[in-house]
Amino acid sequence: MTTAVVVGSGPNGLAAALTLAAAGVRVRVIEAADVLGGGTRSSELTLPGVVHDECSGMHPLAPGSAFAERFDLAGAGLSWRWAPVEFAHPLDSGRGAVAIRSVTGTAAGLGEGGRGWLHTFGPLVKRFGTISREFLQPVLHLPRHPLHLALFGAYAGLPATLLARRFRTPEAQALFTGVAAHAFRPLDTLASSAIGVALTTAAHAFGWPVAEGGSAAIRDAVLVRAAEHGVRFETGRRVTSLDELGGPDLVMLDTSPAAAAQIAGARMPTRVRRAYLRYRHGPGAFKVDFAVEGDVPWTHEGSRSAGTVHLGGSMEEMAAAEKDVAAGRMPERPFVLVGQQYLADRTRSAGDVHPLYAYAHVPAGYTGDATEAITARIEQFAPGFRDRIRATSVRSTTEMSLHNENYVAGDIVTGANDPWQLAFRPRAALDPYATGVPGVYLCSAATPPGAGAHGMCGYNAAQRALARL
Ligand SMILES: Cc1cc2nc3c(=O)[nH]c(=O)nc-3n(C[C@H](O)[C@H](O)[C@H](O)COP(=O)(O)OP(=O)(O)OC[C@H]3O[C@@H](n4cnc5c(N)ncnc54)[C@H](O)[C@@H]3O)c2cc1C
Repeated sequence: MTTAVVVGSGPNGLAAALTLAAAGVRVRVIEAADVLGGGTRSSELTLPGVVHDECSGMHPLAPGSAFAERFDLAGAGLSWRWAPVEFAHPLDSGRGAVAIRSVTGTAAGLGEGGRGWLHTFGPLVKRFGTISREFLQPVLHLPRHPLHLALFGAYAGLPATLLARRFRTPEAQALFTGVAAHAFRPLDTLASSAIGVALTTAAHAFGWPVAEGGSAAIRDAVLVRAAEHGVRFETGRRVTSLDELGGPDLVMLDTSPAAAAQIAGARMPTRVRRAYLRYRHGPGAFKVDFAVEGDVPWTHEGSRSAGTVHLGGSMEEMAAAEKDVAAGRMPERPFVLVGQQYLADRTRSAGDVHPLYAYAHVPAGYTGDATEAITARIEQFAPGFRDRIRATSVRSTTEMSLHNENYVAGDIVTGANDPWQLAFRPRAALDPYATGVPGVYLCSAATPPGAGAHGMCGYNAAQRALARL
C-alpha cells in the first residue's frame, strides 16, 4: 500500500492528507503544535464562553472551493453563517461605505461611485464560478475559460489606487482599497488589486462567511472525513528532517519554503534550495482579541452589522500606511482589520460579552506593542469602545511565529504578494508543488493559490502527487 506523511496540519496539510487518503494512500499527519488545525483554530482566548478565531476568521473562497465540494464538508458538520453586511469601511464623522451580498445593492449605496463598482464587479460576479476555479490553480495551466480569466486579469494587474479611481467618491475608493490591503502590499504597486478584486467579487458571489462555532469547525469537518479514510495523527512533534519519517512513498510539507529546504537537507537540488531560501515573506500582523460587553459603538451605522470592518481612513491614508509597513516603518495609524464574527454566529458570545478580532499591519518582525494603536484606531471610529472592553489577548509578530512557524516574522499570508510571487510561488516551475526531491511536495500557502483557509494548495499538491505516482 502507498504510504504518505504530511508534515503540518493547517488547512492545506489536512486537505492534502484527506485527498491522498481518499485515493487509497495510508496517511499519517505529524503536527508540531499540541492542537491540530494550524490557521483554523479557535479558543476562549479571553474569557470563558467567548470563542475567538486565533487566525482565519472570514472565508470568502472556502465554501465554493473544489476541495469543500468534493469532500462535502457541509455534510460533515460545517455550517457557514453570514453577517448582514459583508464588509464595511467607516470614515470620520459617521461617513463610510458597505458591501453587501448584492452587487447592485452595494452599488446603489455608493452614490456616484456605484456606477464604476457595478461595471467592474457585475460582470466578474456573473462569472465568478469559472473565474475562481481558474485562480485557485497554479498560474501555469491551460485555462478552460480564458476570456473570463482575462477579464479578471485586466483588473487584477492594476495598482489598487489606480483601479479605485473608477469608484469616484472617497467612500467607495476607501471601500475597495480596504479590501485590497488584505494583500499586505503597497497599494500603488502593480497587481496590488489582485486580492482585492478576488475578495470583493467573492463577497458579492458567496459573501464572507464565518464557520459556525469558530474557524476550528472547518478543521473538525475535515477531521471527520479524514477519520472515515483512516488518517492517523501525531501532535506535539516538530519534524526537522526527512530521515525521521521512516521512508514513506510521499511526503507533503505544509511548511514555509525555508523549513522545507531544511527538512529535505542535502537531498534537495541546489537550484530549488536557493529558490526556497530566496522566497520573500511579507510584513507582519499584530493581533489583539477583545472581549467586549455590548456591541462596538460604531458611529458609521453600516459598520454595526458588518462581519468585517476595515479601519484605514481614506485611500490615501491607507496607501501611505501600507507603504510604510512594507519599508519596515511602523505607521502612527496602521491599517486595522476588525472581525465581528459574532454578528453572524451568536454561539461565540457569552451572554452580552462578544469576541472582537482585530489585527494591525505592522513591519515584518515588529518588536513594539501595537495594542494601543489598535485600540485607538477602533476608538477613533467608535467612541466609547474602550469602556466596553472586559478582557484582551495579545499576539505580537514574534508570538505569531512561535504559535505557528509558517508565519515567519508575523507574515500571516505565508509569503509576500508581489507580482512575481502572486504568479509563481514558491518558485517558477511547471509543477510549483514539486520540491525536486522525488515524492516530496510543498503544499502550504506558500504554493498556489496562496493564503486562505480554503485548503486548495494542499488539494492541488495532493492531486499532482497522485498523478506522478
Ligand atoms: C491572524 C490571522 C488572520 C487570518 N485571517 C484569515 C481569514 O480571515 N481568512 C482566511 O482564509 N485566511 C486567513 N488567514 C490565513 C490562513 O489562516 C492561512 O493562509 C492558512 O491557515 C494557511 O494554511 P496552511 O495549511 O498553509 O498553513 P498553516 O495553517 O499555517 O498551518 C501550518 C501547520 O504546520 C505546522 N508545522 C509547520 N512546520 C512544521 C514542522 N516542521 N513539523 C510539524 N509541523 C509543522 C504548524 O504548526 C501549523 O500547524 C489568517 C491568518 C492569521 C494568522
